[in-house]
Amino acid sequence: MAESNNFIHSIIEKDNETGKYGNKVCTRFPPEPNGYLHIGHAKSICLNFSTAKKYGGKCNLRYDDTNPVKEDIEYINSIEADVKWLGWEWDERLWASDYFDKMYEGAIELIKKGKAYVCDLSADEIKEYRGTLKEPGKESPYRNRSVEENLKLFEEMREGKYADGEKVLRAKIDMASSNINMRDPVIYRIAHAAHHNTGDKWCIYPMYDYAHPIEDAIEGITHSICTLEFEDHRPLYDWVLREIGWWENPPQQIEFARLNLTNTVMSKRYLKALVDDGTVEAWDDPRMPTIAGLRRRGYTPEAIRDFCERIGVSKANSLVDVALLEHCVREDLKTRVESRNVIEKPIKVIITNYPEDKTEMMEIENNKEVPEMGNRTVPFSRELWVDGDDFQEVPEKKYFRLFPGNEVRFKGAYFITCNQVVKNEDGSIKELHCTYDPETRSGSGFEGRKVKGTIHWVDAKTAVPVTIRNYGYLMLPDEEGNNQFNPDSVEITQGYAEPALADANAGDRFQFFRHGYYIADEKLFSKDNLVFNRIVDLKSSWKK
Ligand code: ATP
Ligand code: MG
Repeated sequence: MAESNNFIHSIIEKDNETGKYGNKVCTRFPPEPNGYLHIGHAKSICLNFSTAKKYGGKCNLRYDDTNPVKEDIEYINSIEADVKWLGWEWDERLWASDYFDKMYEGAIELIKKGKAYVCDLSADEIKEYRGTLKEPGKESPYRNRSVEENLKLFEEMREGKYADGEKVLRAKIDMASSNINMRDPVIYRIAHAAHHNTGDKWCIYPMYDYAHPIEDAIEGITHSICTLEFEDHRPLYDWVLREIGWWENPPQQIEFARLNLTNTVMSKRYLKALVDDGTVEAWDDPRMPTIAGLRRRGYTPEAIRDFCERIGVSKANSLVDVALLEHCVREDLKTRVESRNVIEKPIKVIITNYPEDKTEMMEIENNKEVPEMGNRTVPFSRELWVDGDDFQEVPEKKYFRLFPGNEVRFKGAYFITCNQVVKNEDGSIKELHCTYDPETRSGSGFEGRKVKGTIHWVDAKTAVPVTIRNYGYLMLPDEEGNNQFNPDSVEITQGYAEPALADANAGDRFQFFRHGYYIADEKLFSKDNLVFNRIVDLKSSWKK
């Protein structure tokens, strides 16, 4: 197999050479079902699933549900929908809580080996005894309890004899270790709380650093991929599996840098607060970095997978420019979607020399880059709508679009000259009186003269009203560079579209000519309510 620039793949290839796992590769994606997945999780999902696929291995979806909380079916459903939507299939769907018995037996094993003890220190005392980076910790006075006493006390903990926090089970490792995680970490705590899966069976629950390696080992995971914060926990991961000693080829933990993205946040807690206090519509608000939000915004799974591929995996934390994600979706949509004429901030144009009752059908290409996508016909008549940004009464320098006295090309139709601005009593623009030159019809081969500006238009008689939701960034940096919620993150406007847009279905994507890529909103779009979300604008600020 070719040398890979993905360091995780290099590790696997080495393991395959030495036969460490008998050429087996098994990974897992282990979400805690306490929120919706976001683009950072997508990176982990793509990495785990694509790695398994590349080496003909397996990847499990495992819920990391070792905390006794009520199961939230909404989160579970969303996680599964998101993983599938991204295009992956898990080998098995598993629950960490199914391994509670095995984890308990593992703890007994450690106690019997003199590698774990019941400690009566309070949480505060444990913290105090732990020491600092500069100073070693202090041994607990309960550290040297006999195996028999520990077995008895741990059994009593399980039976519910003690209150929350009264006792814990700790690994007996080294209070002077330079790695604070190895200073007799707590591996079991008491919590008199019902668990969605095991009900009231347990009142002691394993801690993450103890539970996770066991979950991996039980499932036969070979490469347990996690984010960099866990690098200092790896010695404990290895310790747990080595000291319990039940597995011949225990899994290995491999850390990579988590994804951070500009102009958004990836903290589940922060995102949940935005939903709970109504700052955003819901978890799938199109501004959210959640998979559900990106989907509703109009992102494609292909674009997200491409993005995850391009950012690659690294050992160093960094901040990825959201412009790269936007670039990926433009690249994907550019050759896939048809274009439509849509007018924002509409201004009425009257072609004064065009017959009142005439309508011509103009041919317009569906996708400039893909001629095979053919043409559509668009009606053109005396009254049209043009975009507010395509007219300036007093043009600024180098403005080549419509202004009094100027001639422009109406894309796919005629050359049009603006002659007069007609105003309402309040001074606002009522309409523009223009004339067309019949000689210049698009496709006629007219070469008499050139014009600098080309604009798009919509026939007023047949136009359909549309609601356009233009999204900006969820977060913007303040003066100190700290991300703050952007109160102007959505702008909702009404516009007009060519009649073909009324035939769209929810979820259909288009390029709104000269504006950007848009999707018919999954939830709000209907035949009488044409609501579109801007996926991304057309210009790219992404530089390679
Ligand atoms: P928390 O544990 O605080 O609820 P979390 O973001 O760690 O939040 P998990 O459900 O535990 O959420 O994460 C599942 C997997 O996704 C973990 O393996 C984690 O390492 C990975 N992950 C989470 N955030 C990112 C990120 N920003 N980039 C890459 N991987 C991530
Ligand atoms: Mg986590």
